Amino acid sequence: MAGVSYPYPYEAPVSQNLFDRASLVTPGGVNSPVRAFRAVGGTPRFMVSGTGPYLTDADGREYVDLVCSWGPMILGHSHPAVIEAVQAAVARGTSFGTPGEGEVALAEEIVARIAPVEQVRLVSSGTEATMSAIRLARGFTGRAKIVKFAGCYHGHVDALLAAAGSGLATFALPDTPGVTGAQAGDTIVLPYNDLEAVRAAFAAHPGEIACVITEAAPGNMGVVTPGEGFNQGLADLCRANGALYVSDEVMTGFRTSRAGWFGVDGVAPDLMTFGKVMGGGFPAAAFGGRADVMGHLAPVGPVYQAGTLSGNPIATAAGLAQLRLLDDAAYAKVDAVSAEIQGLVTDALRKEGVAHRLQTASNMFSVFFTEDEVRNYDDAKKQESFRFTGFFHSMLAQGVYLPPSSFESWFVSTAHDERAIERIAAALPAAARAAAEATPEATA
Ligand code: PLP
Repeated sequence: MAGVSYPYPYEAPVSQNLFDRASLVTPGGVNSPVRAFRAVGGTPRFMVSGTGPYLTDADGREYVDLVCSWGPMILGHSHPAVIEAVQAAVARGTSFGTPGEGEVALAEEIVARIAPVEQVRLVSSGTEATMSAIRLARGFTGRAKIVKFAGCYHGHVDALLAAAGSGLATFALPDTPGVTGAQAGDTIVLPYNDLEAVRAAFAAHPGEIACVITEAAPGNMGVVTPGEGFNQGLADLCRANGALYVSDEVMTGFRTSRAGWFGVDGVAPDLMTFGKVMGGGFPAAAFGGRADVMGHLAPVGPVYQAGTLSGNPIATAAGLAQLRLLDDAAYAKVDAVSAEIQGLVTDALRKEGVAHRLQTASNMFSVFFTEDEVRNYDDAKKQESFRFTGFFHSMLAQGVYLPPSSFESWFVSTAHDERAIERIAAALPAAARAAAEATPEATA
């Protein structure tokens, strides 16, 4: 990092070499933008293995992982039960293109956990889940317009790439070329946590809005907790106006509780989307909800949706094995680990006098470098992100892997034990100092 020096060995020659090779054959050297470290600078670490709370990079350095593959690895890496289920599934074959028992069992597990989900369809990514849910909402209601909130990310669906969070927040992209006016023209983007704006949108477009889609508790502009009554207000406004309430639980699902964020706030959506944890580290995702709405999907209904690898036997075996281990004790452990790390982070930053705000959604959390409450995307953008850059690199140099952007949630697992937490605690004082000393110029 130009302008910032650290008292730790920081070179990563093998990762650098891989990144150089990758950059020749893959745009930006990565297959998903936030992995490229563009927001924080430096060389992305190429990981070769993961065990429990640790990742090991190609240079042989071990990191405590606070990204957990952006959420899925809630049991930590290489959990023996998940690996065993995957090995058994692989031995039976990798894809059949027919129905199979694993996908039935995974669907049953989802339906059993989440009361508003009467039926579910499996897909391969969160993007596919939200794209399909939007199509279904439009097909069911016969309406074109959708409402989303600024700073909420729902995958890279054309219609949902307006004022999205995650990588688009990180790179401050207002929109993306390649999405036509027609594709985004029916998308109404509103400020998060603002029910009045939703009410006004319904009043301005009577009978035109198919659905309101929201992250159940946003994690893609950093963690922003829905205000008291916000999700219920959305559900009520949708019902009153003949629209569907679509809750995107790709990130929160099976993470923030047994039943995801629905298990926390109890607000029943018409449709929900899932991904990440339910795939156990494999590409599996889903959308589901009211049976009368799901009944509009092909082959029973007219709304088309399909996938060659949907319900893949290995992905469903991994997801099912992971979900079956996620009992109340597991969530209590994840919550406790999260609370302990939050406390350590806040103590370290406070000692260095760094203005910050820790925001949580159950065991998801993130640190904003601002004193003010962050209620929406505009608030999130007011933080001093340059402080995160110093903080991030100091943690990385000390063997703690954070999400490489201040607009992302941190994730922990049941595998984060005392040794891992001690390493985080040991790294934090210097990282907090780096945050305190950071200047906008040093990161420019
Ligand atoms: N929805 C939310 C809330 C997400 O956080 C994400 C990914 O981070 C997605 C949808 C898209 O999922 P995927 O990356 O699997 O396409």
